[in-house]
Amino acid sequence: MIYVDNAATTKLSKRALDEMMPYLTENYGNASSLYAFGQKSKEAIENARAVVASFIGANPNEIYFTSGGTEADNQAINSAAYFGALKNKKHIISSKFEHHAVLHTLKKLEREGFEVTYLDVHENGIVRVEELKKAIREDTCLCTIMFANNEIGTIQPIKEIGEVCRERGVIFHTDAVQAVGHIEVNVQTQNIDMLSISAHKFHGPKGVGVLYCKQNVPLRSFLEGGAQERKKRAGTENVAGIVGMAAALKEVMINRETAAKHQTMLRDRLIDGLLKIPHTKLNGDRTNRLPNNVNVSFEGIEGESLILLLDDDGICVSSGSACTSGSLEPSHVLLAIGLPHEIAHGSLRITLDASNTLDDVDYILKKVPEVVSYLRNMSPLWEELELGKKEFQIK
Ligand SMILES: *Cc1c(COP(=O)(O)O)cnc(C)c1O
Repeated sequence: MIYVDNAATTKLSKRALDEMMPYLTENYGNASSLYAFGQKSKEAIENARAVVASFIGANPNEIYFTSGGTEADNQAINSAAYFGALKNKKHIISSKFEHHAVLHTLKKLEREGFEVTYLDVHENGIVRVEELKKAIREDTCLCTIMFANNEIGTIQPIKEIGEVCRERGVIFHTDAVQAVGHIEVNVQTQNIDMLSISAHKFHGPKGVGVLYCKQNVPLRSFLEGGAQERKKRAGTENVAGIVGMAAALKEVMINRETAAKHQTMLRDRLIDGLLKIPHTKLNGDRTNRLPNNVNVSFEGIEGESLILLLDDDGICVSSGSACTSGSLEPSHVLLAIGLPHEIAHGSLRITLDASNTLDDVDYILKKVPEVVSYLRNMSPLWEELELGKKEFQIK
């Protein structure tokens, strides 16, 4: 099997598992207990907190462990909205192609009386700082823009966005779930007030993540219960998960640059190869994208069928048209960069990992053109395009 869907989730690293094992077995003490056996768990959590903090350039007391990226996004946005509303500031700025953990939280806030400006991401999948400047109002309490997009991999001008927000007194949150592990993330140099991380996107375990919240930026708790995480996140800590996440981050620190170089080489080979298929288009900026992300659209086919046929060839990829819960709506990300519905439906996302090889890439480059031809030959739409009854939308 060739697994190239690393934006969906990644394999747990061996080192992370090894470091987690004691906390899944003999070291099961509750970190809140006063006896030494409980304090062992407490110590493990605090060591992990220091690792996470140093990784993103924060202080340990600015790190809150959560159940993952979704919870971190929810808490950051709901908290900034809550404190904004207290000052009668009920305007939020975001972008059109955020993850649903952000977008659905914003939709809920809109129903509760907040106003949200969704910045355009343009054809290249990147927000424009000039447009952010224009969107900021007296009553803007929060700007939330993702660091790197999970579907098309485009990287946003985070440092510049943070700078503008800081000048104008707006809290800046970024969903950095896809960025961590691939590119540099530093809350100090990049002017970030709040940031979300998820362990399972960089070879840590599922169900654990981080919310960074800068000192002096108020943070509200949304769970009633114990006093864990300095009263900001109640519930007995996921000790093994937290330890595993820190272990995975330590590996990122050592390997990231080499891994990024290798993946960029494979990525570019894939892009060049796939674009040789006629009537095919790359989605998102060619260079300002994550080292492991390839996202292309093929005219005249259904992404879903493509995924299933590639699965038969042992290739795990994702379709750009995240047809979640059986809905036929194509991906909001692909629509946001201006793709017509039919084209968005014929999309393919390949997200690599450091363990992928040239052989993997060459196998993919052999199989995808075969499957695309096969599907096109069966498609009535493709026939109309070829007969000139309809016009091609991709050159
Ligand atoms: C995966 C992902 C999330 C959600 O993280 P979970 O830990 O799975 O809840 C949020 N944002 C982005 C950009 C993601 O890719």
